[in-house]
Amino acid sequence: FLPHLVASMEEVEQSYIMIKPDGVQRGLVGEIISRFERKGFKLTGLKLFQCPKELAQEHYKDLQSKPFFPKLIDYITSGPVVCMAWEGVGVVASARKLIGATNPLNAEPGTIRGDLAVQTGRNVVHGSDSPDNGKREIALWFKEGELCAWAAVQEPWLVE
Ligand code: UDP
Ligand code: MG
Repeated sequence: FLPHLVASMEEVEQSYIMIKPDGVQRGLVGEIISRFERKGFKLTGLKLFQCPKELAQEHYKDLQSKPFFPKLIDYITSGPVVCMAWEGVGVVASARKLIGATNPLNAEPGTIRGDLAVQTGRNVVHGSDSPDNGKREIALWFKEGELCAWAAVQEPWLVE
């Protein structure tokens, strides 16, 4: 571990990334995880999880007045999801770029939604929209002992 070579802590963010039930059912788990790994982010939490309704409602509480909210809750709780915490410099905005636009038909080719999905209601993956929400969502979906702080040997080769 070479602390002098590691990015300054202020630049390091956390994002909550979740493979939704359609991504799990369609066998896209490995494909999606590998895109974040290849980019150079660090996985600090990972689990397969059947989400209870209350947790889905809390996670999406900002959308509770939207007409699609009940369908969204049914979708997210319809099967297991893969919960992930990813860490890195600029990970929040970068993960949103890797994921692509909310409507997969508007998502650029090369993005996860652009390559792997066709409809907003089945858009295979979630990513936090701000560093504050990244922290909030990771705290919501993971218990403390489920997260792992570790030093990646590749770090000095990713960040100068
Ligand atoms: N969603 C939907 N219909 C809509 C808008 C959103 O079903 O018209 C769902 C979709 O699964 C989306 C999620 O609600 O990913 C959260 O919406 P948000 O606007 O936060 O999009 P995201 O941040 O996931 O791109
Ligand atoms: Mg969102």
